[in-house]
Amino acid sequence: MIHFIDKKTGQAKTAHLIREDENYIYVRFGKGKPEYKYSRKRIDIKDIEEMRTPLYRPPFPVYKYFRECYNCGNGTMMLTYMTYKDNPNESLIYPYDMNRLLSKQEIFLHLMNPKIEYYGVNILGDNEAYDKIMLEMFPYKIKRKFSQTIQTEYAMNICEHCGAKQGKNYVYEAVNRFIKDKINIPVV
Ligand SMILES: [Zn+2]
Repeated sequence: MIHFIDKKTGQAKTAHLIREDENYIYVRFGKGKPEYKYSRKRIDIKDIEEMRTPLYRPPFPVYKYFRECYNCGNGTMMLTYMTYKDNPNESLIYPYDMNRLLSKQEIFLHLMNPKIEYYGVNILGDNEAYDKIMLEMFPYKIKRKFSQTIQTEYAMNICEHCGAKQGKNYVYEAVNRFIKDKINIPVV
């Protein structure tokens, strides 16, 4: 559910889905309901920015990137910490220490699925203490949800547009790709 203000009427409304292009914002008020087109100026979805903003200053680097939500197709912000597997309280700082990441690489998994490097890196959902802080910092964006894949609950990203769960596999795959391509991921 997304809350926004219709500035023409001053009403606060709740949308089921919102997507946007350069000129318009498209709103659906329920699953399978028609889509309404509004000019950008008419709608204030600053709520979304608020959901993406930490409530307090992160005590460790929180990395962010965007991916297309599989459910609503909007760009959804993904947040995670990244720590070394050989010391789960030490954050990866660019340039990443490739020797350490490779020394804890899961070679067997990598051979089974060469698409992912399986470096020795922990991400959101791996470290209870860090997860707790992430849940407190981003209460609207990160939630403990049940995962069908691993049959348990853990802290994961929630799409700020439609509420769909963005599980750990997505983050792990992306983070491995960023490390491999030596990309300096922006922090919050
Ligand atoms: Zn979505």
